[in-house]
Amino acid sequence: MKFESQVVHAGDRKRKQGLAVPSTTPINLSTTYFYESAATLDRVLGHEEEGFSYGRYANPTNVALEELCTELEHGHGSLATASGMSAIQIALQAALLDRSHHIVASNSIYGATIGLLDQVFGPYDVGVTYVDVCDLKAVETAIAESNPGCIFMESVSNPLLRVGDIEQIARMAKSAGAALVVDNTFATPMQMRPLDLGANIIVHSATKYLAGHGDVLGGIVVSDDTHAESVRMLSRLIGPVLGPFESYLTMRGIKTLALRFERQCQNAKILAEWLSAHPRVDRVYYCSDAGHPDACNIKKFFAPGLFGAILSFEIKGANKESVLRFMDRLKMVVPGTSLGDVHTLLLYPLIASHRNISPKMRERMGIRENLVRVAAGIEAPEDIIADLDQALGSI
Ligand SMILES: *Cc1c(COP(=O)(O)O)cnc(C)c1O
Repeated sequence: MKFESQVVHAGDRKRKQGLAVPSTTPINLSTTYFYESAATLDRVLGHEEEGFSYGRYANPTNVALEELCTELEHGHGSLATASGMSAIQIALQAALLDRSHHIVASNSIYGATIGLLDQVFGPYDVGVTYVDVCDLKAVETAIAESNPGCIFMESVSNPLLRVGDIEQIARMAKSAGAALVVDNTFATPMQMRPLDLGANIIVHSATKYLAGHGDVLGGIVVSDDTHAESVRMLSRLIGPVLGPFESYLTMRGIKTLALRFERQCQNAKILAEWLSAHPRVDRVYYCSDAGHPDACNIKKFFAPGLFGAILSFEIKGANKESVLRFMDRLKMVVPGTSLGDVHTLLLYPLIASHRNISPKMRERMGIRENLVRVAAGIEAPEDIIADLDQALGSI
């Protein structure tokens, strides 16, 4: 099946002899399951027979979502978690289980992920080396110097939209005996599939494009065959599982992922082109830009014609005060911290994702006081343009 059909069909409609088949997966709230014979339960609990026994181990609604995600990401197995952050925690723990307790991580990753590495993993003696993953020489050096058990990166970085050479980094990870974990939230499996490029585990904040409507907090871990069982074991013991209702909403969201994401990418491209010519805009960051520093990786890894639904731009001469004023003037675009929703969202990194980074470090990362990020929604592009235009005009 093609991606557009998989999103609608995979995981759904379990057939059982003689029983009616629901056309969509029901929300199954039961935490406990029993069988006609206790001997069956014994075998299920002993992993000799497949089946449900207890909600922390597996739930039918979650399993349907997990099967869907495994198929979309070309993985071996998936776990639906309560948030994107819990997905990242489980993925990193699975990667480090029987490997050196050191992580080489991209230096431009989601703020809370840096917090997770430094404040949660750090105190348990997991060292972290941050590196620019778009500089392969630097990655090679970091691996040689720190002997990591895991390499962590995002398929598309935030907010400057850099795209590292996952294929090459996967090769380096493999020869160093490290697992490559990739956060694929920004790209979605429609734009790029890191497991096909050699990554071992990918994670999503399902809160974003997968669920897609701003009403679910969730995460997904998709693993290759060597990590799926460790991920499941950790989840059985820690229990950061997604609730069945959120699982249902995420599946419902994914059914329209292909439609939404295509439209969002189209809108982002239109916005990027319009903003590039706007007198109040200094610079636009978008992946379709011919002069993009990672144009080569974009061409190699992205699905043809899909350059992503996120763009960033610098407002000419703006400081914090004038950017906040610009945000207050938006009438339709939502000035919130998320992305991937059907409505267009505008984020100001300085007060949100990059709030806890020192001004000096931010400057070094190329994130200026006048930079804002737009996650295009599915609205008519004319309306998004009109809203940004009136807000920019009166800055
Ligand atoms: C939002 C986000 C996360 C965290 O996900 P939550 O669902 O908020 O826990 C991780 N990585 C990226 C790239 C994100 O955008």
